[in-house]
Amino acid sequence: MKYLVQAYAGSGGKQYPYNKPNFCPHCGLAVDAATEFKNIGNYYYAAFYTCTYSECRKMFFCAYLLRGDRMDLLFMYPREPPAGIAPEIRALSARFVDLYAQSFDAEQSGNFDLAACGYRNAVEALVKDYAITHKGVAADENLTQKTLQGCIMDYLDGLDAAIAAFMVKELGNAATHYPQCGEPFDFVEQKVYLELFLQYITGKLKILNVKANLPSKHLQRFEKREQAAPALGEDAQ
Ligand SMILES: [Zn+2]
Repeated sequence: MKYLVQAYAGSGGKQYPYNKPNFCPHCGLAVDAATEFKNIGNYYYAAFYTCTYSECRKMFFCAYLLRGDRMDLLFMYPREPPAGIAPEIRALSARFVDLYAQSFDAEQSGNFDLAACGYRNAVEALVKDYAITHKGVAADENLTQKTLQGCIMDYLDGLDAAIAAFMVKELGNAATHYPQCGEPFDFVEQKVYLELFLQYITGKLKILNVKANLPSKHLQRFEKREQAAPALGEDAQ
């Protein structure tokens, strides 16, 4: 694991160095988590961490073995999310990160049908969290029950992003359905559309972050230009 910082924990009047995660495996944000260190028998220790991000506040833990003059990290639970998920996406949807990590594990084990279903469900979580945070949609039963197809149609602005998400859904559905009834699915193709979709959403989130911090006089200029743009079919000949 690369996201570790050195810290010290006491035992028997001595201080021992140990590697402490500087990120939260639930939300993926960098945090300086509060630590509770406990001896769990013989030379084994457990460190319990609580995420400092107000929207998360979840607990995670590491097991350590005291070897000589240092604590060696044995494992962390939950484990760190797979690399390649942009910080903007991690901050938006902890559920997506969790489902993506599970699907990634299935993929690494060669369980491609499971992975395909999981990636499809991860996209659904991401689109719904996007709708709540950036489209003012209420986090209620209506949203819970809304199909992924409906979410794609209603909450994704760009045609490219909508098509990429649609393809992840279609290929995920093909892996879910009883094979004799559905279309055959291509896992490699699904991963291509998944990566494309994540790129679109990451770009969108980056722009929204810039927009949120743009002085209003600049924002007004952009908005005026948008309004003044000719409608389709009205271009000068
Ligand atoms: Zn967290």
